[in-house]
Amino acid sequence: MKYETVCGLEIHTELLTKTKIFCSCSTAFGGEANTQCCEICTGMPGTLPSLNKKVCEFAVRTGAALHCEINRYTKFDRKNYFYPDLPKAYQISQLYIPICQNGYVEIGDSIKGGKKRVRIHEIHMEEDAGKLIHKDDKTLINFNRCGVPLLEIVTEPDISTGEEAAEFTQKLRDILRFCGVSDCKMQEGSLRADVNVSVRPKGSDTLGTRTEMKNINSFKAIKNAVLHEAKRQISVLECGGEIIQQTRRWDDRENTSYPMRIKENAPHYKYFPEPDIPPLTFSEEYIESVRATLPELPDEKKLRYITKLGLTEYDADIICSDLAFIKLFEKTAELTNSPKESANWIMGEVMRMLSVTQTLPENMNFRAESLGEIINLLSAGKITRSTAKETFEQVFVNGVDPSEYIKQNGLELQNNSDEILAVVRSVISANPKAVDEYLGGKQKAIGFLIGQAMKQLGGKASPNEVSDCIKNEIKT
Ligand code: ADP
Ligand code: MG
Ligand code: ZN
Repeated sequence: MKYETVCGLEIHTELLTKTKIFCSCSTAFGGEANTQCCEICTGMPGTLPSLNKKVCEFAVRTGAALHCEINRYTKFDRKNYFYPDLPKAYQISQLYIPICQNGYVEIGDSIKGGKKRVRIHEIHMEEDAGKLIHKDDKTLINFNRCGVPLLEIVTEPDISTGEEAAEFTQKLRDILRFCGVSDCKMQEGSLRADVNVSVRPKGSDTLGTRTEMKNINSFKAIKNAVLHEAKRQISVLECGGEIIQQTRRWDDRENTSYPMRIKENAPHYKYFPEPDIPPLTFSEEYIESVRATLPELPDEKKLRYITKLGLTEYDADIICSDLAFIKLFEKTAELTNSPKESANWIMGEVMRMLSVTQTLPENMNFRAESLGEIINLLSAGKITRSTAKETFEQVFVNGVDPSEYIKQNGLELQNNSDEILAVVRSVISANPKAVDEYLGGKQKAIGFLIGQAMKQLGGKASPNEVSDCIKNEIKT
């Protein structure tokens, strides 16, 4: 209780450009090893990098989405270090004048108890390194990833818990996806976080010594890394020990971190201005033209759903938590002209099926048109609510066409009430006791009659319709 946790994140995100940052090799994920590289990205002497314009555009768009100042003048720097996955022995990055600075991302909401801004220190552009594959007693190198463009997004140390760190990363992922700059597939490494943690006496305004855990690639691991590393540091301090500034490896299975190396600082990398790429200057028109391509972002959508479409804050919050929900919601609301009912279906049946089938929202693969059609059939009184739910289940699992499924299984409600009437009459004549009870004032008895009729009709009529029909028949 005497300590508080301080955390800052450095998030690396691979950009969705077709080609690499300084050459025209493909950035496609999963290609055969060492087939997507050339002299430039493998750092052969005498080659020259030429900057992919799209990388700047994506960086500016991200900066605008994260409320950053965008520098009209920016340049690249060399970060020198040797590692087998980096054949040039330097990485082209940005140290002195990053492309974007001083932004923020808002986390928290009125449900979780207040909003909080996590400030963005900077966003810079850089190139990714290759990948080492450790196999038996050998190490193999795949250079396909060398030169894939990255944005590094660095926060101020404004994060105070593991939960906040995970929430921030999730929010950032949504924004990056919305902006179309990255697919942020954490399992493929296109979004990964370096987690910096320190602790200090509660209320202190000086920062404690931090440790850094690199390349963490799930929200849960980010949350646990902050939590457990803070605990470890507190116990070291409590025993009179000292925290050493170091890079530690986070072991997600063991929920512990292990020391790797003493952390390097900028001087160790002998940074110097990149001589092969001239500094960049951006005109106001350019910045504005990129800003104009920004889509409506999650926070703006949420506000519009609540104020314009009448959704509750809770529903809006959950729908805005994932791009897949947003797409489904907006299309369904448009097709049905009923945002409220569309939201109800997403919060109810869609969520239920996701959990039953253990599916991630991003992997839902039914058409919004199908859900829209079901809602429209239901509100037009053509099917019962239970038919609607059954049909949706089939849409979700087997991708059926709703109208066809309903037709094939004879689930549409009868247009003329002949069949209902015939069934009701036979139920009445087969159950004189229940009819007498109802006529004698026992309201409950009608429920039994409705149940019998519904069973025979196999869901082809609505309970209300059947109930009305029975009452009419008994009266006359
Ligand atoms: P680098 O790790 O590249 O040397 P910085 O020193 O700028 O870069 O810090 C990187 C990250 O570490 C930032 O997200 C920053 O907020 C965070 N950070 C810096 N000092 C601390 C600290 N004492 N406790 C927790 N996080 C910190
Ligand atoms: Mg760092
Ligand atoms: Zn190349």
